[in-house]
Amino acid sequence: MTIVAKFGGSSLANAERIIQACDIIQSSHERSCIVVSAPGAQYPGDIKVTDALGMLVNAMRDRDEQGVKTARAFVQQRFEAIVDDLNIDFDLQTHLRVIREACERNGCSAKDWIISRGEWLNAQIVAKKLGYTFIDAEDFICLNGNQRWNPEYTKAAWRNLDLPRERIVVPGYYGRDNVEQTRTFKRGGSDITGAIMAVLLDAQKYENWTDVDGVLVADPRITQNPLCIPEITYLELRELAYMGARVLNPESLIPELRQKGITVHVRNTFNPDTPGTKIVPEATEDRIPGSVVGIAGRKGFSSIDIYSYLMQEQVGFVGTATAKLAVHDISIDHVPTGIDMLSLVIASDQLDGKADQIQRALQQSNDPDSMVITNDLALICVVGSAMANNPGVLMRAAKAFADADVNIELVSQARGEKSMVFGIKEDDYERAVTSIYAEFFE
Ligand code: ASP
Repeated sequence: MTIVAKFGGSSLANAERIIQACDIIQSSHERSCIVVSAPGAQYPGDIKVTDALGMLVNAMRDRDEQGVKTARAFVQQRFEAIVDDLNIDFDLQTHLRVIREACERNGCSAKDWIISRGEWLNAQIVAKKLGYTFIDAEDFICLNGNQRWNPEYTKAAWRNLDLPRERIVVPGYYGRDNVEQTRTFKRGGSDITGAIMAVLLDAQKYENWTDVDGVLVADPRITQNPLCIPEITYLELRELAYMGARVLNPESLIPELRQKGITVHVRNTFNPDTPGTKIVPEATEDRIPGSVVGIAGRKGFSSIDIYSYLMQEQVGFVGTATAKLAVHDISIDHVPTGIDMLSLVIASDQLDGKADQIQRALQQSNDPDSMVITNDLALICVVGSAMANNPGVLMRAAKAFADADVNIELVSQARGEKSMVFGIKEDDYERAVTSIYAEFFE
């Protein structure tokens, strides 16, 4: 079995943690490709190397000499401490000189190159410690102009690369664009690099080592010590991630992973004996019928409620209204309807400064009897594909809302039954999540 193992910044924040990660890597010869982030925070409030490099770029842009010195010294000291404590034969000073000279030559125009040097250095250090081969991501990972992965170019470049495919360390977060300039993904992009390597190497598993036990059933800021999800499908996770659950970068669940049937396994570097969360193409375990895998939610939604007598008989009413919002570049999350009423549920920030204009436009296009915009809504999403074809899940959720004395303002569920979405008042949000959690998980 081939495993691609990606270690996040907190898992590699200092020498002690790098040693811990190397122990994990070396405990299985199947972990043959390692993807690394730059050293992250060692404790709450500590500065990540990537952030320090960002400060360096900003200081260069502002011609703030003191800022340049401070940021440069910070990065240098972090890496010096790592190399000293690992006791490896690594010529850090030459690498640092390469960075310094490039900064002097190119200034902040080489922004992405500078910001990605944390991964570049850390990958070489980890490779040295493990005795693996360092392969630079910009030799084959290709990005489009919009910081997105370009699969065709990357696959072609990878095929042409005459380098080992095993026992390799690849820096995360960056690659090159079509004019050979270094380009980064968005922040947290090393997760994407890990996924790309799993696809390129036809790995069976992509392990994502981080500092939490896995994907949690609910938001730990609201629910105390929520359970960890043992297994979740790609589609279920997308639903949870969209509504706010964050562990992996959502963009890292690239379609190729699913097509190739690769399992993503989220694991805790600091607690390697816990089972973690497996993200799988199809549910493998026998789920209890009607079971829910997780709940997520967000505040900050608005509902544009359009009332029109005999709306259901007017062909194109919904289409006309949604097309109007599209013209104003507003994306719609849910469209619950009644016989004479249509609600367009959207993220509220899209209405900033535009609410009157939108209302006027809808008035003109749909000529409704009345229209109101309700703000301060929260959406709660209850996710679990095992609820398909199983009566009673909606009833249990509704009961949980009633138990918490929370009024459900709207409900939305597509026929696939992977998730149910409830709209409630923002003020009720925490109470509602707690009650739903108790109903399904306690
Ligand atoms: N180091 C980068 C960041 O902090 C990329 C990553 O770690 O995924 O966002």
